[in-house]
Amino acid sequence: MNKDRKLLIAGNWKMNKTASEGAALVQGLYLELAGTKQLEIDIVVCPPFTALSEVSKVLVDPKIRLGAQNMSEHNYGAYTGEIAAGMLREFGVRYVILGHSERRQYFHETDEIISRKAIAAHAAAIKPIVCVGELLAEREGGLTEQVVGKQLRGSLAGLSKEQMAETTIAYEPVWAIGTGKTATAQQAQDTHAFIRRLLVELFDDTVARRVRIQYGGSVKPANAKELMSLPDVDGALVGGASLEVRNFSDIVKNSI
Ligand code: PEP
Repeated sequence: MNKDRKLLIAGNWKMNKTASEGAALVQGLYLELAGTKQLEIDIVVCPPFTALSEVSKVLVDPKIRLGAQNMSEHNYGAYTGEIAAGMLREFGVRYVILGHSERRQYFHETDEIISRKAIAAHAAAIKPIVCVGELLAEREGGLTEQVVGKQLRGSLAGLSKEQMAETTIAYEPVWAIGTGKTATAQQAQDTHAFIRRLLVELFDDTVARRVRIQYGGSVKPANAKELMSLPDVDGALVGGASLEVRNFSDIVKNSI
């Protein structure tokens, strides 16, 4: 893999796995990935909040890092049911997924909220993974760049160049999430290249060259190699296939 940027492969477990199931999954991943070197690839698991503590106890080797699936934009206070960045950091959380399409759709998260969350995450030394992506009707209507561009301008607003360089973008076409449909290599590369050009415009060339842009949407062992070899694809955000040791470890192995 001859890219300046190190690949980042993250598993989004969504609302799956109890604490003990999550710990067992991570232990299985360590066994399967014993041969891979930490230097080759960044691997992140994002369990539900209730499994963070148990999973953090078994993450004994920094080859696999801990991520969360969401967080509050606020640092503390009267926000029933919410969890702050500082609380996540205490469990060793290094990454947080922000603005996943399910949060945008079911919990009405806007680009403005996502940008406030991203700023709060950086303040707690947690690296955001900011998700963007178009609906099927938007792709078919030729609106992909317009939609993704608007999401990025809004969700990344207020980040400094230094913060942006430590932020990951996950391009996840909504029509490819959990559907078994994957963007073609050309569709993925074209949109990733568009995102990188936009980062030059919004930040600068140096930042744009550093930012990792993950692809997400039905990534599996069988398609990982082709997707990860694309020039502007710097990793994957994996949903369904991250719930099973063999699938997730094969995605990692096939990407190296
Ligand atoms: C996701 O939800 O981020 C995702 C990409 O899911 P899946 O891999 O199941 O399509």
